[in-house]
Amino acid sequence: MKQIHTIPALRAFRKQASHPIAFVPTMGALHIGHAALLDHARKLVGNRGTVIVSIFVNPTQFGPNEDYLKYPRTPDEDLALCRQHHADAAFLPDVASIYEPDASTYVEETSLSAGFCGASRPGHFRGVATVVVKLFNLIQPDFAIFGEKDWQQLTIIRRVVRDLFLPIRIEAVPTVREPDGLACSSRNRYLSPSERAAAPAIYKALSETAALAANGETSTAILRNHLLNLLNAIPNASTDYAEIADEQTLQVPDHILRPARALVAVRFPSARLIDNFPILPPQSHSRHSSP
Ligand code: AMP
Repeated sequence: MKQIHTIPALRAFRKQASHPIAFVPTMGALHIGHAALLDHARKLVGNRGTVIVSIFVNPTQFGPNEDYLKYPRTPDEDLALCRQHHADAAFLPDVASIYEPDASTYVEETSLSAGFCGASRPGHFRGVATVVVKLFNLIQPDFAIFGEKDWQQLTIIRRVVRDLFLPIRIEAVPTVREPDGLACSSRNRYLSPSERAAAPAIYKALSETAALAANGETSTAILRNHLLNLLNAIPNASTDYAEIADEQTLQVPDHILRPARALVAVRFPSARLIDNFPILPPQSHSRHSSP
């Protein structure tokens, strides 16, 4: 696997890389969720195609009081995981290569970014969209792979790609979880032992809410209250947001008539965790369960 640190070296690699090219953007501190993205990338392009992973802690997606400086950086372990999962190249640029000191151009999606994490973290999705488009322009992949773990991010990237006519197919990989249901996240390592013990209750709350919908409840107000009550009972945690939204538009309907997602952010003293789960309308449950 080639390690690439500069833009000229990336351009040179890109020029001779065999197609199709699949790209997996990450911020490092890689775990089995990222590994699933790399495996999906390899499956898409086959052994003759090229898988490029980027490892870049993007400063513009962190707010001034967020964890940019203390975000975990584990480059040696990350490179080993990328090698094990058959990436062809890992791109690890420094901040100065991605952002000129007087950079003044940003990509901003203005609708899907407004709520949820966009409301809690102003400027976050502008930073995400900007770095993703920069990386897309440098790598010019045929496919880019994102995790469903960051559902709002996924919908925003799809919208940016559509609106800006970027010739890239976005592929989504389902959330990879720990055996107890906690969604794998680089930030899980911030959790104290007691927070880690409490955190799987997020998944439990989401799946119980999905079960209520599966049993016929369609009112988003009732579903949301149920979810909120379960989350609010988690010791030592506060709910940043908990909503049931249309899976594509992220609008909150009165009733679940189309596939929706429960979207949550829960703040422990040591880490803010996000998760989401499908909430399906009753007819799709019966469609799935009948032969
Ligand atoms: P990050 O390094 O946290 O910026 O994430 C890089 C990519 O990995 C994003 O597309 C995430 O959605 C995805 N990802 C992170 N955690 C998981 C997970 N548990 N399951 C699936 N994908 C994930």
